[in-house]
Amino acid sequence: MDSNIKHLLLKTLYYSGFIRVWSSLNKNKITILTLHGVMDAELESEWEPLRPRTSRKLFDDTLSMAARYFDFVSLDEAIGMLKGVTPLKSNSCVVTFDDGQLNNLAVAWPILKKHKIPVVFYPTTGALDKGEPYWFDRLDFAIQQPGLDGLEVNVGHSQIRIDQSSRQKLAGSLSKLTKSLKLKDQSDSDFQREVNGIIGDFENKSGKSINDVTSSDLWSSPMSWDDIVQCSTIDGITIGSHTVNHVRLPFVGKGDLASELTESKSALEERMKLSCIHFCYPNGDWDEHSARVVENAGYESAVTTDVGWNEVGDNLYTLKRYSFPVGGTALKALFSITGILHFMSGIRKG
Ligand SMILES: [Zn+2]
Repeated sequence: MDSNIKHLLLKTLYYSGFIRVWSSLNKNKITILTLHGVMDAELESEWEPLRPRTSRKLFDDTLSMAARYFDFVSLDEAIGMLKGVTPLKSNSCVVTFDDGQLNNLAVAWPILKKHKIPVVFYPTTGALDKGEPYWFDRLDFAIQQPGLDGLEVNVGHSQIRIDQSSRQKLAGSLSKLTKSLKLKDQSDSDFQREVNGIIGDFENKSGKSINDVTSSDLWSSPMSWDDIVQCSTIDGITIGSHTVNHVRLPFVGKGDLASELTESKSALEERMKLSCIHFCYPNGDWDEHSARVVENAGYESAVTTDVGWNEVGDNLYTLKRYSFPVGGTALKALFSITGILHFMSGIRKG
């Protein structure tokens, strides 16, 4: 459908009061939103990732509209409701950020604070220790450096050609490369080795790496331990764990699985002097075994990237989420986070 027609359709639905009816029909469902970062090109930086991020304006405008339909609550409150311990508030919604990047605190938090919306940040303790960007940002930076055009990269059975002829084409190459890497059914250590090999090759060819840009770069820098300690003193911010090394739990060995969960938890607790009881699966990857290990490690909840709502009595270790859009209008974002677009795409697929 033409995007203008789509926008007109959404506008008509919006002014007809449809979202109000939809929200009332689904008032007992708890929404959890996923974001990775809030950042835009207007904020000064030496580079801009190809991977899109939610802009400050989109975030701010969408939250202003969403406040009419949602009751934003902390994750602790939501867990209490899901357990049936505390009374259910209609249309409860939790905002979460994966990976614990510096922009979460520096850019997103002031907007959330303005709207009086609590939030959960899920950093990996490995990134906090090293202060280095994640592999996906390292790759994003490396692929943009001159001298890689036309390069063929082998990932499993597929060969991906790096096309630097335009930013859009390059974004396509990056997306194909990332998808192929994530699709491969290999152990997490093989995955990390392969990713590091590809990025290292790019960096050697161009002579540039993400570490050349300032360490306070808001696109890709992780928060520091000092930032985490600061977060732990702020009313409205909850810190959860996202493992030590951003490992995909179903693909790591037994010993590593347990230590990734317990070491990240205890490191966060030690620094924050608070208990860390919430967990987020890196890459959204989970299976029954890893969910059990998360529970045995002492966590009280775990969020996935499975799409949908949560209801009283649901398994707290496989919580579903809706992604907060990285582009488009605030109106479309509102239809997205209320689950309406997901429902409509289900009807279309039949
Ligand atoms: Zn992550």
